[in-house]
Order: sequence, then structure tokens, then C-alpha cells
Amino acid sequence: MTKNEKRFPLQLSSVMDSAKQQTHRQSISAHLVKTATPQTATQNAAKHGASKQDAAKNSLRSSSLSPNPTTKSDQTSSNVVSSRPLVSDGVRRAMVARVAQQGVKDRLVLAALEAIPRHLFIESGMSSQAYVDASLPIGHHQTISQPYIVARMIEIMRNDGKLNRVLEIGTGCGYQAAVLSLVAKEVYSIERIKALHELAKNNLRPMRIANIRLHYGDGMLGLPQVEPFDGIILAAAGMEVPKALLEQLAIGGRLIAPVGGAKQVLQLIQRTAKHEWQSSILEQCHFVPLHQGVI
Ligand code: SAH
Repeated sequence: MTKNEKRFPLQLSSVMDSAKQQTHRQSISAHLVKTATPQTATQNAAKHGASKQDAAKNSLRSSSLSPNPTTKSDQTSSNVVSSRPLVSDGVRRAMVARVAQQGVKDRLVLAALEAIPRHLFIESGMSSQAYVDASLPIGHHQTISQPYIVARMIEIMRNDGKLNRVLEIGTGCGYQAAVLSLVAKEVYSIERIKALHELAKNNLRPMRIANIRLHYGDGMLGLPQVEPFDGIILAAAGMEVPKALLEQLAIGGRLIAPVGGAKQVLQLIQRTAKHEWQSSILEQCHFVPLHQGVI
């Protein structure tokens, strides 16, 4: 994380109070796109080649912005691409309800999931799949994580506590970082694939989220220059949790990571003292692999 490091080129605030969070939510929901192109989704990004982050997505995005986030303007935006199915607040609410049914209870996390327009993080061709509770390809053999697992991991990490500084390993398209920005004061996220780091910047820029800092680098090394973190979340699975990340966890902090190869489980690690960590194994999961180095 030295000369390759890049910071999210937006104004950053180190502290975000709840009033600001509310403003966030509103500015985020103002970016809702109400239309989408149907396309068969796959949960296996490995079957796909690199995806094109096409200009159409951006033009659809900007042409569909609603000046009033509370206005249900499906009709207004449907004239952008009138024959396409709608991606509305209701569809996202239904997704959040399904995530809650699966056992996620943390209201703050559920509210964050409801506030973030997931369809803006995937190719416009797959927007109609955005609120299916599944991972989807984002190119470069990587995926946007399944909403349930995003919510579950953040809930476990948060444990109903206050999160000041959190670190995400594996930014991907930036979706989880956006969700995290509504539950933590400061979000740092590292991505090892340059093109995805750029994609996340492009996805997040219009949302004007002030408390996310994106870094290009090897997340296995963490961010020693800004440790300690109250929470660390890995979005890619290694055979074990990198030692550097354990060291960068605050005492009392919680790290959640998928661990394993073909079979993976969620591992929760709590730092209880300077030289003491406690680990527990939670549910099964399936993530793309954690790799060393940058590309
Ligand atoms: N957080 C994403 C999911 C990303 S998928 C979401 O919002 O849905 C996992 C990501 O981890 C991939 O983009 C992959 O390139 C990245 N990754 C894998 N190993 C990494 C490492 N050592 N450092 C940083 N990123 C890594």
C-alpha cells in the first residue's frame, strides 16, 4: 500500500453523524434508476469473461435521476427505455424483507441495504436481477456479493456496537463499501484488481459518499498506516485469515471472513487483548478466492 495506493477522490469526512447519514440516504436514493434490461443472471462469475462497463449504464443512470427521492417516478423514467422492467424502491424493499426472513435482525444494516441502489453497481444489462438475492458477475471473474451475506457479515461484525473505522478487503464494484458507509463512520476498502478499483470509484462517485476511502493494493497486507480497525470484513476467501489483518484489529474489534477452498465457512475473530484473539466458526458460504499481489 505505498506508491500504488489511491484515495477516493472525493471530499472526505472523518466523522459522519446521523444527520449526515440521513442526508446520505437521500442523496443515494435520488440516484435510483427505475428501469432495467432483462437478462439471465448467473451466480458464477468465473463462467464469464471480463464485463463491459458500458456507456449505456452511465447514460441510463444520469438520465434517470429523480430530483425528489420520495417521488415514485416509475412512469417518468420508463420513457427512457419504456419496454423494460422497472427497478423500483418496492423491489429493493422486498429483497430486504427476504434478507430479514433469512435471519438478519440488525435494523441499521437492513436500513442500509434498503438505502443502497444495488442495481447501480452492476451492468445495466443485468439490472433486472439486481434485487434477486444472489451474487452476480462484475467482470474480471469476480462477483458482487449476495445481499444476504453482505448483511449477515456486517451484522456479525457490528454486533449492535458502534463502528468507527472499518476495513473491507475486496472492494469489487463498491456495493458493500456503500452499505458499510451507512453503518460505520469511516470505511476503508482495498481492491487488488486495478480495473475493479476504478469501477468502484466510478460507481460510488455519483453517490457522493463522503466517508469511504478506496485503496488499490493487496488487502492481505491491510492498511497499517490507518490501523486499528473496529471491524474488518473480507469479501474473498483465503485458507486462513492473513496475520497482518489480525494485528490491525483494535482490541475489542471483530473480523469476519470467509475461510476455505471449495468448502468455505464464515470465521469470526475477536481481538480480546494485545496478544489474544478468539475465533469461532459460523455458517457455510461461498466467495471468490483471496489472492496475493495486485494486477
Ligand atoms: N465487496 C464486493 C465483493 C467483491 S468480490 C461487493 O461489494 O459485492 C471480492 C473481491 O476481492 C474481488 O474484486 C477481488 O479482486 C478482491 N480480492 C481478492 N483478493 C484480494 C486481495 N488480496 N486484496 C484486495 N482485494 C482482493
